[in-house]
Amino acid sequence: MSQRELIFVLAHAQLCTSCRERLLASPQDALAGRWLTAEEKAMVERLKDADFFTPERLAEAAGVSVSQLNESSNHPVVRLRHL
Ligand SMILES: [Zn+2]
Repeated sequence: MSQRELIFVLAHAQLCTSCRERLLASPQDALAGRWLTAEEKAMVERLKDADFFTPERLAEAAGVSVSQLNESSNHPVVRLRHL
């Protein structure tokens, strides 16, 4: 299964402080309407502020690859679409 949507959500939350705060404070609201699996949503709900300190740490916490996160960080959708 593609993790593209998950990667996009995580990459945006890394770039955007307000969305990151919203995601951490109220993950179910922030993820409403996103095409994430139940497992992916449960994983995101377990993330903490500290997991966003570096791409490496976030990738490990989320079970995705660092290169996918870094590649996605320049994608226009990631840069412009808020959660
Ligand atoms: Zn945002």
